[in-house]
Amino acid sequence: ARGYTAWDCTSPAFVKTTDAGTCILCIPAAFTSYTGESLDYKTPLLRSMDAISKEALKALALFGNTSAKKVTASVGPEQEYFLIDKKKFAKRTDLKLCGRTLFGAMPPKGQELDDQYFAAIKDKVASYMTELNEELWKYGILAKTQHNEVAPAQHELAPIFSTTNIATDQNHLVMATMKKIAAKHDLECVLHEKPVAGDNGSGKHNNWSISTDEGENLIDPGKHPETNLQFQFFLAAVLAAVDNNAELLRLSASSAGNDHRLGANEAPPAIISAFLGEQLESIVKQIIEKGEATESPKGKTYVSGASTLPTFTMDATDRNRTSPFAFTGNKFEFRMVGSTQSIAFPMMVLNTIVADQLKKMTDELEGAEDFETACKALIRKTLTEHQKIIFNGNGYSDEWIAEAEKRGLPNIKCMVDAVPALVKEDAVEIFEEHGVYTKAEMESRAEVMYETYAKTINIEALTMIDMAKKQIVPATIKYQTSLAESVNAIKAASSAVDTSVQEALMADISVNLKAMYAALAHLEEVTNKAEEMEEGAEQGHYYHDVVFAAMDELRKPADKLEMLVAKSAWPFPSYGDLIFEV
Ligand code: ADP
Ligand code: MG
Repeated sequence: ARGYTAWDCTSPAFVKTTDAGTCILCIPAAFTSYTGESLDYKTPLLRSMDAISKEALKALALFGNTSAKKVTASVGPEQEYFLIDKKKFAKRTDLKLCGRTLFGAMPPKGQELDDQYFAAIKDKVASYMTELNEELWKYGILAKTQHNEVAPAQHELAPIFSTTNIATDQNHLVMATMKKIAAKHDLECVLHEKPVAGDNGSGKHNNWSISTDEGENLIDPGKHPETNLQFQFFLAAVLAAVDNNAELLRLSASSAGNDHRLGANEAPPAIISAFLGEQLESIVKQIIEKGEATESPKGKTYVSGASTLPTFTMDATDRNRTSPFAFTGNKFEFRMVGSTQSIAFPMMVLNTIVADQLKKMTDELEGAEDFETACKALIRKTLTEHQKIIFNGNGYSDEWIAEAEKRGLPNIKCMVDAVPALVKEDAVEIFEEHGVYTKAEMESRAEVMYETYAKTINIEALTMIDMAKKQIVPATIKYQTSLAESVNAIKAASSAVDTSVQEALMADISVNLKAMYAALAHLEEVTNKAEEMEEGAEQGHYYHDVVFAAMDELRKPADKLEMLVAKSAWPFPSYGDLIFEV
């Protein structure tokens, strides 16, 4: 297996120091196979950055900007994570092997009071965050914001944005450093998209923009977006790209872990839509209706009514946390991406589809006799065709799911259903045209995705079987025995004493233990059968439809048993212990 690496001189090299003091020089590099196909995330990402630079420059030339030499796609990835006590983590085989819990009865309290989100950061966590920042700054990573997130034990870090390439490399280092520093604080950093059921999972919000080497952000509406044709052109291109390639974008954020998040009422739904906010929505509406916009809503002035408080200008646009692709002032925030994922893939997809749309629109305008008239007409046509992607309402609501269906927007519910988008003819055409992927590179990645999915679910199923057989069943039987002994002892001591509670409890445990044992046998059987499936789509679907479903069936009686067996007798820490005791 011969292959090649090539240094990526655009991403700074860095030195890693081990605890023993050994220094390791790390040089970001591309990785290519013997046959010349890219094996990494980096090469396609760099190719996509070239593609968007080329197409954006051509577009800019139409608007009279011939001095810009380069357009750079940038991203600021917000990283969500959980911090769990190290000793408790070590007692959970599921967390150790799968990164998420596979069993766990719901604790009496979750995130319903939002008291984690709005509370001050705990001292222990703040110390961790401080050391994490300092370590990241040593690498030249500008870690900036940190705060509590919605779920108990959940937090977030955001660095200052950089090119999509550098930000990707840095995000990989951020994830590794988060884990390393956690160990020093007797903590475990859990990056999985859904470490505990019932509470919010973790994502990675990708704040994306494109700007010239002269410092002009092409996604910035400026003071007068209503008359800023160049901005409207780029806005229309982004919206059209997102609409035309919604399935690809959805795929780019797909993983076995993220299946627990997307569409689960806490993360964006699996339906791709774009939020624009009041200001841009109004401008788009004017353009569609009249051919051009003439006015732009302005922010109001806040008057507090208290003489000691200041007066200030409010924003012209609100934020929307339920949208998968939200405009946030001078950038778009792609909020679907999972917390463990490399952002290289989603950023590569976004760069390429926007490059492709810019090319299509630029080609249409080239040679136009009256550029301004032709450009206005094209913006109007593009926005009219793609307005169905714009949605400013609540993306978590059931009404939106129905409405999206009416609009014909795809709603791909799980990863295995998303993978085919990568090898569809129109996707291959786009990636080949812009020199980002060859057909073979795309097909191999689709295969790898199915395989990774199958392996992930297989490990989870085997871990459940292991925990059920070696921990839950023996612990339950032991507790059951202690109840039986208690009944016997009480009866021997006095026939007048009532033992009906113990007996009822024993009966209840028995019923659930029996159900659990049957579900366990079923899960073992279907997991063993997976080997017989043809690798790829067939096996991937089997794991999703059959094995994953069987895992759910095993979990239900096991979680009921957790509520029946004494805490001291249960073999691993409860949800409450994990998320409320850091
Ligand atoms: P939020 O309010 O959405 O949680 P954060 O402050 O946590 O926002 O993160 C915003 C991210 O967006 C940061 O990484 C920031 O550097 C990045 N960002 C800001 N401006 C731009 C821009 N023009 N292009 C790309 N990323 C940007
Ligand atoms: Mg944030």
